[in-house]
Amino acid sequence: METDILIVGNGLAAWGVLNRFAEIKSDLKITQISQEKVLPSCALKSTATVSLNGIQKNISPLGDLLYDSFFTTTSLIEKWGTDTIEKAEHLHLGNSDKIKQRFHTLENIEKSYLKSSHLGARGDVYLFNPSMFFDWFNHHIKNQIHNLSEVQDLVTDFKVDGNNVFVQTLSGRRFLAKKLILTTGAWGRGRTGGKLVCGHYLSWYNCDFEESFLISLNQHNLIYNKSTKLLMLGGTSNSDEVSLVDVEKLKSMYQCFVEIFHSELPAFENAKLSYGVRQKGKKRMPYWGKFQESDNIYTIHSLYKNGYTLGWELGKRTVDQIKL
Ligand SMILES: Cc1cc2nc3c(=O)[nH]c(=O)nc-3n(C[C@H](O)[C@H](O)[C@H](O)COP(=O)(O)OP(=O)(O)OC[C@H]3O[C@@H](n4cnc5c(N)ncnc54)[C@H](O)[C@@H]3O)c2cc1C
Repeated sequence: METDILIVGNGLAAWGVLNRFAEIKSDLKITQISQEKVLPSCALKSTATVSLNGIQKNISPLGDLLYDSFFTTTSLIEKWGTDTIEKAEHLHLGNSDKIKQRFHTLENIEKSYLKSSHLGARGDVYLFNPSMFFDWFNHHIKNQIHNLSEVQDLVTDFKVDGNNVFVQTLSGRRFLAKKLILTTGAWGRGRTGGKLVCGHYLSWYNCDFEESFLISLNQHNLIYNKSTKLLMLGGTSNSDEVSLVDVEKLKSMYQCFVEIFHSELPAFENAKLSYGVRQKGKKRMPYWGKFQESDNIYTIHSLYKNGYTLGWELGKRTVDQIKL
């Protein structure tokens, strides 16, 4: 099968690419391949928050990228107007010296669900509901790309063949693409590089707090989405590629929140445990652009803990580099 663009993957990096093709009203023939059953997307196994976290410009290249990407994402959220993303308050509590260093100011934070007042900082956070957003994105954004076809299959090999890229799949399909875009996340690290960092988080359903929130307490996150009544805790970061779930870490995170909460938290034992695999680049820096200097192959990878913030900006930057 011949195609102009072949995208491998169906996570944040792929969505960022597809969003850009939809924005520029591309009439290119685009094919998207992913294999969710065997290689599940981390995008759907994520606590999926977008926050500036006190980041300021001109401190580090990663900080600058996250800063710009945050505003790209929030202007998209405003344009989309989807109720699959909830805006809430992000409270930063815990070590006040560290909070002051990051935010340059401290304020008194009082909430009815907290036992006492805390010195901390506040910001905005956007809480994505990954599966609901994914459905919304398919119907409202992907549908704008008229010449798009989707295939469930596993890409096993690719090589440049003249001005095209020849791609093979496990079920025996063969594609000839003018451009290949690899958005394969941690599963593709054998080709794209980066480290696999597994992360676990806990979810409780049907919880009733008076408002949505994200509380970051000494880098542990408790997230509540009032519209879905979902409470989440985590995620952890495994220190190597073979470790199993770090239950002790999750228990100690949970205990930190029990200590500051006035309202009762649901029992630890009643939580559902989920995990996703992130891809971490050198110095946490993502990569986007040409794959190994090739004019035919592009990639976006190592979004690590910030896929929901970075995917849209890096998708735009990558598509804008491609000349057909
Ligand atoms: C516990 C946890 C919490 C997180 N919390 C947040 C958060 O709050 N905010 C945030 O911004 N980010 C968060 N993240 C990170 C975020 O989820 C990731 O950065 C993002 O999902 C990565 O997107 P991706 O497109 O690079 O990869 P993925 O979403 O993993 O997508 C990879 C895709 O490639 C496909 N694929 C791979 N290889 C092949 C192949 N050979 N053939 C066919 N298809 C293939 C897979 O099927 C999949 O569709 C969290 C992650 C975890 C694990």
